Amino acid sequence: ARRKLIAGNWKMNGHLDHLRELHGIEKAARAHPQVDVAICPPATLIAAAVARVPGLAMGAQDCHSADKGAHTGCLAAPMLREAGAQYVIVGHSERRADQGETDEDVCGKAEAAHRHGLMAIVCVGETEEERDESRAEAVVTGQIAGSVPRDASADWLVVAYEPVWAIGTGRVPTLDDVSAMHAAIRSKLAETIGEEAQGVRILYGGSMNGDNAADLLAVPNVDGGLVGGASLSADKFVPIVEAGA
Ligand code: 13P
Repeated sequence: ARRKLIAGNWKMNGHLDHLRELHGIEKAARAHPQVDVAICPPATLIAAAVARVPGLAMGAQDCHSADKGAHTGCLAAPMLREAGAQYVIVGHSERRADQGETDEDVCGKAEAAHRHGLMAIVCVGETEEERDESRAEAVVTGQIAGSVPRDASADWLVVAYEPVWAIGTGRVPTLDDVSAMHAAIRSKLAETIGEEAQGVRILYGGSMNGDNAADLLAVPNVDGGLVGGASLSADKFVPIVEAGA
């Protein structure tokens, strides 16, 4: 069976004083060792977070595909690893939209993560327009085909399905729609990377909270959550960790 992963994405939120929230989250993670828990704060906070709660896994929110070089403002996977990150989110829809990241870019970032011992969380998801035009599955499976490295294994790849219209909106797809999409992602993964696909965790993300997490996490092929807003406080995040246990 696949171990559930509950990951928090702080996006561009949080300062040093915010790290106090991590104590309660670490405590919940320790109380539920059958679940993997990680927090992805802004990269500037990773090292301080690791120093403060060494028992809680940290992740970054992006990395460059290159190991070093003339790329002002970017961060390379070995730098994130050195800061103490164990995970890195790549291809989040906000970066695909704001930074124009393509599937090919995302694939290169996932490969870089793997080269440096980071778990890559590759994000996919359709826009509302794409869903309204009944193209959601085609869009998402296309993103899988383009963004997942051919040699990926369950040891270092996680996929996160985040419908763009569900992010930060309080709107969540029906459980049937989540089930259908996660099954479609699983079979596309099998086409792309073969047998390894069975072990890859597929997270759901988009307005997950303490009230809907148990239902979402019980859907077949939902192997965890990628949580934005509700990951910013221990009060809101801990119930989601508990729902995953
Ligand atoms: P919300 O949980 O705030 O909807 O964000 C989801 C997300 O984008 C996580 O990466």
